[in-house]
Amino acid sequence: MSDGSPKNILPRIVDPRRFCQQGVVLRGYVPVGELSRLTENKVVVDRVIAELAFAVDQQRERVVTGSLSVDAQMECQRCLEPMPLSVSCDVGLAVVWDEESSRELAGAYDPWIVASEETDLYTMIEEEILLNLPYVSYHDYSCGQPTVEDKPEEDGGSEKQNPFQMLQQLKDKMKQ
Ligand SMILES: [Zn+2]
Repeated sequence: MSDGSPKNILPRIVDPRRFCQQGVVLRGYVPVGELSRLTENKVVVDRVIAELAFAVDQQRERVVTGSLSVDAQMECQRCLEPMPLSVSCDVGLAVVWDEESSRELAGAYDPWIVASEETDLYTMIEEEILLNLPYVSYHDYSCGQPTVEDKPEEDGGSEKQNPFQMLQQLKDKMKQ
């Protein structure tokens, strides 16, 4: 599990435009205690590793590309027990000053609005993770929920649909 893990901590406060000018490449981890928004979303983060390359592209956009990899635990929405989860995602951002300039982006990049020189890199990483977490999460075995066979047909309704199944279907649709 831990092979190849970077040992250096990513800087929290960065000057992304300067990094782009200088072609900085960051590889490291985020101290898990720093990710409060994930905690608020009931995600217990075990490990966050990021590899981010800052550059100026051919359109003179200041861009950040790379990847994030997250090991975490979410609450299973069926049995409410912790469920391990690994998420990897690509990052493709262009550093912009405001909403207005974010609309002028060519489309290959998502805007990273940085209104001053320096910004909080962890906030950006956290947002990217939140965007890439599954909408709902379940153990991949049948946990904590009686199967249909186990249940006596007490209320005679065959029409019952599990709301979680509907969410799962919705999520599957969104993935396509
Ligand atoms: Zn479960």
